[in-house]
Amino acid sequence: MKDKYERNIDYIRISVTDRCNLRCRYCMPDEQVPVLPDGELLSFEEIERVCRILPKVGIRRIKLTGGEPLMRKDIAELITRLKKVEGIEQVTLTTNGTLLADRIKELEAAGIDGINVSLDTLDPERFGHLTQRRRLEDVLRGIKALQTSDIPRIKLNCVPMEEINGDELARLAALAKDSRLAVRFIEMMPVGNGQQWTMIPEQTVKDRLTAAFGPMTPAKGSFGSGPAAYYMLPGFRSPVGFISAMSHMFCSSCNRIRLTPDGFLKSCLFFGGGTDLKHLLRSGADEELLDAAVRETIWEKPRQHPDGQAEENRKMYQIGG
Ligand code: SAM
Ligand code: SF4
Repeated sequence: MKDKYERNIDYIRISVTDRCNLRCRYCMPDEQVPVLPDGELLSFEEIERVCRILPKVGIRRIKLTGGEPLMRKDIAELITRLKKVEGIEQVTLTTNGTLLADRIKELEAAGIDGINVSLDTLDPERFGHLTQRRRLEDVLRGIKALQTSDIPRIKLNCVPMEEINGDELARLAALAKDSRLAVRFIEMMPVGNGQQWTMIPEQTVKDRLTAAFGPMTPAKGSFGSGPAAYYMLPGFRSPVGFISAMSHMFCSSCNRIRLTPDGFLKSCLFFGGGTDLKHLLRSGADEELLDAAVRETIWEKPRQHPDGQAEENRKMYQIGG
């Protein structure tokens, strides 16, 4: 359905947990973080119930996120269930990759349509510093498993930060050179701890990649249906993409809503507003009421996000990115 600004909303990001086995300093910096008790997380039955309503309002694509979604051990079961929901055309997942190699077969068997791995540095020391865990080898094993899998859409997501990877962007982009892995650069957003880092804007990343590989040209074909713009570098098999919420505000074409792990349906990443679906689900709301609540949330989606710090107190790991 369309919101009141005529944007067509057809995509939802569902965060299945706020727990994570990394501690990326821009997302979940503290060692001890209060996480939701199990009973506060939506159960798979509750998530499935919400997802049965979504196609009725025009939502056809689901991204599972977190926290780290693979921390929910039976996530493949949820994927299997969601793939059976009539009207849902695509179920994909975003992960930090640490648990991927060992789980990839079950995700593939469940019918996952795509997997994004987040990785900001290929240097073990920097990785250890940024994520506060020494798990780079596990992530690289996960990426390798992904590249040799039959999972259709595979992407690597990297957040450029001058302090961590400013001199490494070409090396990261090169992962797309001889592989079917698209590499995307996502501008740091002022949500949670994001503002404490030196964001590298899209144009600077492009300049560094052009200096390393030669001029880039807009990629032909479809590589995703979100806000990323894709380009080919000379001699590359797969594209590099840019998601630039700060330098190229794309609010006018935003197509998404978000469900937090505790069941709050958010209409915009940068604002706290939305609807407590968990309360409705657990207080006996019928399908009609749930449907109306989802429609109301979409309709009330804000026109655009603020320029500076987000008006949202949740951290990124509590939303799902
Ligand atoms: N743990 C999974 C992962 O890392 O892919 C899924 C959740 S994580 C919150 C989703 C994505 O959000 C990651 O790619 C991460 O780099 C990104 N992210 C977290 N905080 C961010 C921020 N302030 N600005 C931009 N991206 C951010
Ligand atoms: Fe965990 Fe992903 Fe946040 Fe890193 S970005 S702390 S992996 S949720």
